Amino acid sequence: MKIKSAVFDLSAPDLKSCPASALPEFAFIGRSNVGKSSLINMLSGQRELAKVSDMPGKTKLINFFLINDSWHLVDLPGYGYAKAAKADRNEFNKAVGDYLEKRRNVSCVFVLIDSRIPPQQIDLEFLDWLGDCSVPFVLVFTKTDKQSASASQQNIELFKKTMSESWDELPDTFISSSKTKAGRSEILGFIQQNLENQNRA
Ligand code: GDP
Repeated sequence: MKIKSAVFDLSAPDLKSCPASALPEFAFIGRSNVGKSSLINMLSGQRELAKVSDMPGKTKLINFFLINDSWHLVDLPGYGYAKAAKADRNEFNKAVGDYLEKRRNVSCVFVLIDSRIPPQQIDLEFLDWLGDCSVPFVLVFTKTDKQSASASQQNIELFKKTMSESWDELPDTFISSSKTKAGRSEILGFIQQNLENQNRA
């Protein structure tokens, strides 16, 4: 998919403030500092579409970006500031919980996982919760330029293995680097395919 236009639409503090439009939405979420803003900028081809910040917990709003006048890229607040490990909805932003549970036009959620570290409980529990909401999702393993391909692969395999203890079917996975742009064409291709499937249905 070629990105012809990517513009900020609005920031929503809660579900009722989300855009009235029923355009397909592709949402991005992950632990704070996982590289979400960098990935959004890399995908959109705009250096400052989402603010890249080293300060965890800064983004608390749901940010909507209109892409190619045809779909919304949704930047969800990161999770993982809470001390407790159990990712029930109280531990991340209520707006995010409402959005994922109730928003009807979510086409897919991209859950970002740091490729440099072994499986984290908070990510696994978030995925369990997402599964309970019946929201379609895929995984993106970020920051793969920071280590060897085999080291990333090892963590990805371990993550999948851990997931398979509670899931019958594993989600699609992507690897990404906002530095080398690895994963860009694959992720955008996935979105394009998903949009085409919706148009055909
Ligand atoms: P967010 O909190 O999830 O939005 O994370 P950011 O996009 O703000 O990234 C957090 C930090 O990781 C920043 O210093 C980024 O420059 C760095 N970072 C993010 N993605 C990558 C990546 O793919 N490769 C490298 N080398 N650094 C990255």
